[in-house]
Amino acid sequence: MKPAVSVIIPVYNERDNLPELLERTLAACRGLDRPTEIILVDDGSRDGSTEWLADAATANPGEVKALLLNRNYGQHNAILCGFGAAQGDIMVTLDADLQNPPEEIGKLVAQVDAGYDVVGSVRQDRQDALFRKVFSGLINLMVRKSTGVRLHDYGCMLRAYRRRVVDAMLSCRERHTFIPVLANLFAKRVTEVPVGHAERARGTSKYSVLKLVNLQFDLLTCMTTVPLRMLSWVGAAISALSVGFGALLLALRFIYGAQWAGDGVFTLFAIAFFFIGAQFVALGLMGEYIGRIHADVRERPRYIIDRMVGETLGERAAPPRTAAIPAERAAAGL
Ligand code: UDP
Ligand code: MG
Repeated sequence: MKPAVSVIIPVYNERDNLPELLERTLAACRGLDRPTEIILVDDGSRDGSTEWLADAATANPGEVKALLLNRNYGQHNAILCGFGAAQGDIMVTLDADLQNPPEEIGKLVAQVDAGYDVVGSVRQDRQDALFRKVFSGLINLMVRKSTGVRLHDYGCMLRAYRRRVVDAMLSCRERHTFIPVLANLFAKRVTEVPVGHAERARGTSKYSVLKLVNLQFDLLTCMTTVPLRMLSWVGAAISALSVGFGALLLALRFIYGAQWAGDGVFTLFAIAFFFIGAQFVALGLMGEYIGRIHADVRERPRYIIDRMVGETLGERAAPPRTAAIPAERAAAGL
């Protein structure tokens, strides 16, 4: 029977969490009273998770499916891969480390039944390091301000989506993406529910500080070009201020004499360094966008599936590329 709900779980070196994860997720799914599939996407694990997942899919035909990627492509790409193979009309994602209790799946599905396209969740009493919570707080505030969508916890991947939203996300060809923000673009009705949060059961977080920063850049650039525009505004404001500042210096030079102006040279240095720094920040930010454009233009595959265990739809056909190469350019080999 075709599954009505697909639960998608990205797995990267989570071997010790998998038995409990599967047991609890299966129990939660069986409580839904409708056919459900659990799609476990192995994101290039090296700790034996891959083999365990393949065995689990063989042992639970119809209910558990394993998609084994040939290497590590990152959490969001792994989830997109799972979306591509999922058959349900409702899709739920969660983490493999048991920080998101699988028992909450029913709560999210109920909200989609109630008519919402996207159901986010807000972690109650979040069990993470303080710097992660502060960092998330800032990011959530920024996303809320720039998108106007009033969600409170973009980092929580325990979420449910209606199929049409997922289809729209899959038709996006960008390489760097942040699923919760992308989903909001295509959803009409969005809500969020409070969910429990546990400490990581076993193993360690897969996000180093550097990886977290990269992910936030993905979030920022996938969401908006406002920072680019802000650069121009800030640049213009700084220029205007420095014209005023120059005039002030000139006036003071005439009032207090050359001696005074000579002594002020270090102030000028300080100011110059400030502007040089600001320019580097601006260039760096532009670089982030350009890097992503570069990645998109190359159109390399987001992931490569090594093996599928259990019956899935398989990778959906990629939508046609929108821009064809004009005949004369093609003839010239360009
Ligand atoms: N994950 C993944 N690929 C990666 C990094 C993480 O599939 O490159 C999975 C990981 O196995 C887990 C989820 O994404 O199921 C969230 O990762 P983690 O718990 O390490 O993140 P944190 O909770 O520290 O934000
Ligand atoms: Mg975690």
